[in-house]
Amino acid sequence: MKRVSARLGHLPPSATLGIAARARELRAGGVEVISFGAGEPDFPTPEHVVAEAARACFDPQNHKYTAAAGLPQLRKAIAEDVARYSKVDVDWSEVMVTNGAKQAIFQTFAALLDPGDEVLLPSPYWVTYPAGIELAGGTTIPVATRLEEGFKVTVGSLEEARTERTKLLVFVSPSNPTGAVYTAEEARAIGDWAAANDIWVMADEIYQRLTYVTDVAASIAAVTPRFENWVLINGVAKSYSMTGWRVGWMVGPADVIDAANSHQSHATGNVANVAQHAALAALTGPQEVVEEMRLAFDARRKLMYSLVSSLPGVACIEPEGAFYVFPDFSVHIGDRWGSSDDLATAILEEAGVALVSGESFGAPGFLRLSYAVGEEDIERGVGRIATLLAR
Ligand code: PMP
Repeated sequence: MKRVSARLGHLPPSATLGIAARARELRAGGVEVISFGAGEPDFPTPEHVVAEAARACFDPQNHKYTAAAGLPQLRKAIAEDVARYSKVDVDWSEVMVTNGAKQAIFQTFAALLDPGDEVLLPSPYWVTYPAGIELAGGTTIPVATRLEEGFKVTVGSLEEARTERTKLLVFVSPSNPTGAVYTAEEARAIGDWAAANDIWVMADEIYQRLTYVTDVAASIAAVTPRFENWVLINGVAKSYSMTGWRVGWMVGPADVIDAANSHQSHATGNVANVAQHAALAALTGPQEVVEEMRLAFDARRKLMYSLVSSLPGVACIEPEGAFYVFPDFSVHIGDRWGSSDDLATAILEEAGVALVSGESFGAPGFLRLSYAVGEEDIERGVGRIATLLAR
């Protein structure tokens, strides 16, 4: 008998976390590594959030379990946040607090998918979605997008991929890894198509406030009237620089939230009580910090985009949201480096710059560079890549 189950035995570890681990190893060995690898802001969590968490720590009532679905006051604050930014009205009973957005994604798949159900996943895609779909017994159907078309799916490309087994569409705007942001009109066309074909939409809105072309990315739930089969995913990780606190949420119809809540009540129980208090402070406290960080990301985005798109032979779209550029390096793939995986390894080992290869996003030939780092590091890091390519 095999030691590790077939279900988990062939599940690859998260590539993005793998790069971060290798970068840490190199650093521990004295190498100076510039990291464009991990998708997390470099800012500390806002001080008032940390202060509230510290206060919460000393209150013994916060040393106890909360309801598995989260503190009622946090779920209410999330419902208000959804009204403000996604522009849909939800009751707080339709909100569940999860251990980061990652857990919300897993539970959405677990709550909606039966074996054989197909999930349309616009490609390039973030690595965690196919893993979650597979573990829930579903089948991932990638829907290719092209750099020349801004990495966006259309009703035409979705319709081509649709079968009678299609249950769910994963809709991510702004996108990790491409930085693409759908306009309200584009989102509505896709939402109308999903509604007409009785397809669920899981909209991952974790980067909704990190947009550089509009105030906030349009929510497919808000722009598609009379469409109710959606689940929204979000969290405090990116907007508030709170990746390590592990607070996310899912929002959707009561039956789906109830199913996910049962799952969570067995799998993990509630998210750390103190972390929930920190998230509550983030959502209800001053919001200027979010805007300050967004402005910093915008300046870094422009710098990163201009430097990367002037690398020889490299094609890149200007990202409109999140904090990644996703350039096409395929002209550099060939004799010297056989794949973008090889190229990413060379860039890390020989140039001391951590980034993630396109293979893990279903897009060989591409590289993902996160610009959630200081401008000086962006200049030095891209400079090192240019030197390596020219060698
Ligand atoms: N969704 C997307 C699109 C992401 O890029 C990430 C983080 N890389 C997450 C969800 C996960 O967020 P969290 O840290 O809250 O689990």
